[in-house]
Amino acid sequence: ESAAAGPIAQAVIAAIRDMIERDADELGRLDAIAGDGDHGIGMQRGTRAAAAAADLAVAGGAGTGTVLIRAGDAWADKAGGTSGALWGAALRAAGERIGDERAPSASDVSDAVTAACASIKSYGKAEVGDKTMVDALVPFAETLVSQVTAGESLSAAWTVAASEATRAADATTDMLPRMGRARPHMEKSLGTPDPGAISLARAMTVAGHVLAITTKN
Ligand code: ADP
Ligand code: MG
Ligand code: MG
Repeated sequence: ESAAAGPIAQAVIAAIRDMIERDADELGRLDAIAGDGDHGIGMQRGTRAAAAAADLAVAGGAGTGTVLIRAGDAWADKAGGTSGALWGAALRAAGERIGDERAPSASDVSDAVTAACASIKSYGKAEVGDKTMVDALVPFAETLVSQVTAGESLSAAWTVAASEATRAADATTDMLPRMGRARPHMEKSLGTPDPGAISLARAMTVAGHVLAITTKN
């Protein structure tokens, strides 16, 4: 059964890569306002490597957990920068939680997203309100858990959670940064959303589009 879910993880990662190919310039411009301008290129390097690693893992018959772990390790290795290390740690934590043994249920997936969120918070030490990707990821994870617990399908729950992440990422526009490279440029950052929060919300949105066409429960 795990062999059926590995390709879904692969398709999700490919969709995130494709979104980044489209939006890299915009993400770089956002990061240039209060950061160092490399968020688009870093995400491009990371997602290209992650998608290639996922392709290789699936070709070798790997299950979901292994696909996510290999993709995360490649992402962290090739992206450079803070967000690449954090995305890598998140995919690894999700993969370790999901494992390869069986087709993951909706609650397995929401548990894995919760583990990914905890990993990013523990590794990066950012909390909600610091104006980072955590501001989009925490509401995403919390909404996913509550929707799944309420009995929604994974795809339906993911769609609601992704729109919460989008709302939360947009809301970072009015926040002052307390972490990362944007911190010394607080005033410049005000009025611009956090690039890592925006890319995370867009990644979850395109992941939801894949789940909508590939999952039944
Ligand atoms: P770098 O900051 O190393 O140039 P990127 O430009 O790729 O890396 O990523 C910047 C994004 O990383 C920020 O917009 C923010 O969302 C996220 N980020 C930075 N520091 C942290 C942290 N300590 N915890 C969580 N996210 C962080
Ligand atoms: Mg940067
Ligand atoms: Mg950088």
